[in-house]
Amino acid sequence: MAKATRYIRNLAQQGLSLEEQDKLMNAKILIMGAGGLGSGVIMSLSALGVGELKIIDGDIIEESNFNRQIIHKYRSINRAKVMSAKDWVSEFNPDIKVDIEKVRLNENNYLRIIQGYDIIVDCFDSYDSKYFLNEIAIRHNKILIHGAVQGFKGQITTINPEKTGCLACIMEKPMVNDKEVFASLSPIVNTISSMQALEVLKIVTKRGVPLYNKLLTFDGFETETKQLCYTKSFTCEVCSKAPKFEI
Ligand SMILES: [Zn+2]
Repeated sequence: MAKATRYIRNLAQQGLSLEEQDKLMNAKILIMGAGGLGSGVIMSLSALGVGELKIIDGDIIEESNFNRQIIHKYRSINRAKVMSAKDWVSEFNPDIKVDIEKVRLNENNYLRIIQGYDIIVDCFDSYDSKYFLNEIAIRHNKILIHGAVQGFKGQITTINPEKTGCLACIMEKPMVNDKEVFASLSPIVNTISSMQALEVLKIVTKRGVPLYNKLLTFDGFETETKQLCYTKSFTCEVCSKAPKFEI
C-alpha cells in the first residue's frame, strides 16, 4: 500500500484497514453517466482511492448542467462530458486509471463496455436507460447500484442478481412525458450520489450492509428517509425469467 499518506484519513481510527484500502485500489468500477449523479460518484470514488474507473456518457456539456454537474468547468461548454470527467480525475488523483467512452449505451455496444466490470453505478437520468441497464445487469450477473432523483426526492438501491430483486420488481417503468422536465437540485443529487459511492465502498471491501432488497428513499424537503423492503418477484418480466447468467 504505497499511498499511505494520501489515504491516511481513510485509514485512521474507525475507518478502513490497509487490506480494505488495497481492495479499493484494486477495484474497477463502471460509471454510467457523467452528469449530476456521475459527478458526485466520480468525486467520491476518486477521493476514496478506487483504482480504476470507466465512465460512459454520450453528451456534451451545456450551461444548464452547472446547477448540479459539479465536476465540469464553465470553460468546457460544448466539450464531451467524459473528457471533462477524465480531466477532473487526473487533476485530483493522478493515480487513478480512467477509461472513457463518449457513447450512448445500446444493445450493440453494451457487451464490450461491461466486459471486465462486476460493479456498475447507474448515474443515468432517463428511466429508459435505467431499465435497460437493469436488464443488462440481470442478464450478465453484474451488481447494479441504482440511484435516481426528482425534485426534492431521491432513491437508491443495490441490485445483486444472485441475491435480490431488480428495478422491475420494485416498480414498472414510469411513463414519462418527454416534455416534462423535473428539477434536479444539487444537494439532493449529491446526497444520492454519495450514498451510491458508499454502496461501492461496502461491496468492494465486503464490509457493512449494502442496500440489498431495500429501496432507500430520501425526501430532502421533509428531511425524511424510508427503507422499503422488496424481494425478487416471481412474475417479474426481467429477473424471474433470467435464471442463467450469460457471462
Ligand atoms: Zn425483477
